[in-house]
Amino acid sequence: MISETAKNFAEKYIRPYVMEWDETQHFPADLFRKAGEFGLMGVLIPEEYGGSGLGYFEYVRIIEEISKVCGSIGLSVAAHNSLCSGHIMQFGDESQKLKYLPKLASGEWIGAWALTEPNTGSDAGNMKCMAVKEGSEWVLNGTKCWITHGNSSDVMVVIARTGEARKSHNSTAFIVERGTPGLSAGKKENKLGMRSSETTEVIFDNCRIPDNQRMGDVGDGFHQAMKVLDGGRISIAALSLGIAKGAFLAALNYSKERYQFDQPIAHFQGISFKLADMATKIEAAELLIMQAADKKNRGENVTKFSAMAKYYASEVAVSVSNDAVQIFGGYGYTKEFPVEKYYRDSKLCTIGEGTSEIQKIVIAREVLR
Ligand SMILES: Cc1cc2nc3c(=O)[nH]c(=O)nc-3n(C[C@H](O)[C@H](O)[C@H](O)COP(=O)(O)OP(=O)(O)OC[C@H]3O[C@@H](n4cnc5c(N)ncnc54)[C@H](O)[C@@H]3O)c2cc1C
Repeated sequence: MISETAKNFAEKYIRPYVMEWDETQHFPADLFRKAGEFGLMGVLIPEEYGGSGLGYFEYVRIIEEISKVCGSIGLSVAAHNSLCSGHIMQFGDESQKLKYLPKLASGEWIGAWALTEPNTGSDAGNMKCMAVKEGSEWVLNGTKCWITHGNSSDVMVVIARTGEARKSHNSTAFIVERGTPGLSAGKKENKLGMRSSETTEVIFDNCRIPDNQRMGDVGDGFHQAMKVLDGGRISIAALSLGIAKGAFLAALNYSKERYQFDQPIAHFQGISFKLADMATKIEAAELLIMQAADKKNRGENVTKFSAMAKYYASEVAVSVSNDAVQIFGGYGYTKEFPVEKYYRDSKLCTIGEGTSEIQKIVIAREVLR
């Protein structure tokens, strides 16, 4: 039923506009208010804070169904739910949860989460954006980049350095609202894919944040961020799964309809073996994702399992969408058919929320423990 709800939402409110938004890099902010009405903006938020109170199985299905239709919107819904809302839900105090979660869950407010900086992506612990305590306030200075909804968000979780460089426990998480003096959006990125998910720089110029907007203890920011990413990576894996399934289905149908040498191209072993490989990889990715979701639902440590799911599913999304373009031949190389977009969108999945190389570092660390 939940899959159907997400599917119906995507078919009605996203499908007709996918290519227009992609071409113009339009971020459809109003769509997220509508998504809130469908319960898609506070999927994991408990009902007492206005959310849908669902678990990770349902969350995976929602992101998957949306991403089958448009990866960009899947990415934005995932960033809003897992990163911004997820951080406040896990580490906010009661008054912060009561203040922000209902607005985020209803879609009235769009959330963002800012960790990455121009010189510190994979090496996020080496961040330069500083927060310095002055009386009862913190003064933020620095730049974050690649921030999903960096311009359009109403509220942003920011992780800034509060201690010495390269020392442990040297960063802290803050909640910053739109309109706070000293907060502004910088350049909007012109991207290969995920073009209707807004990605911008965020600039802090003597941006003053009251101490009651700090989340958790001073120095806990990086640790909190890693915990948030443990859950976030399941959503990027689900995003990858949706893209892979969308590309596979398009290629499967096309292979039955496209005739060459007087027969459907699906009859050629070269094509049918590709379809067999695609289907098998998708199935394996789904099982890894559901394993991570199950462990997350049970409150177990998912660091290894979410990294495995994200690593594998994102690489599957890239390879399946690549094969889908190949099955479509020249038509797959045009914007008349959906597979070129799956192909472009898929590549983000091996980069965002930790590259494939970083996932392997995380997995290796866990298996070598
Ligand atoms: C569309 C989009 C949306 C995003 N949204 C957000 C967001 O909302 N919030 C946010 O905070 N960030 C966001 N990001 C940032 C994203 O998480 C980073 O881009 C990602 O973590 C990689 O960092 P980087 O781009 O600086 O690459 P780098 O860290 O510079 O990596 C470059 C290459 O070096 C490799 N590499 C780096 N270190 C190692 C190592 N130790 N061993 C082996 N290989 C290594 C990487 O795997 C990669 O191949 C977004 C990015 C994109 C593209």
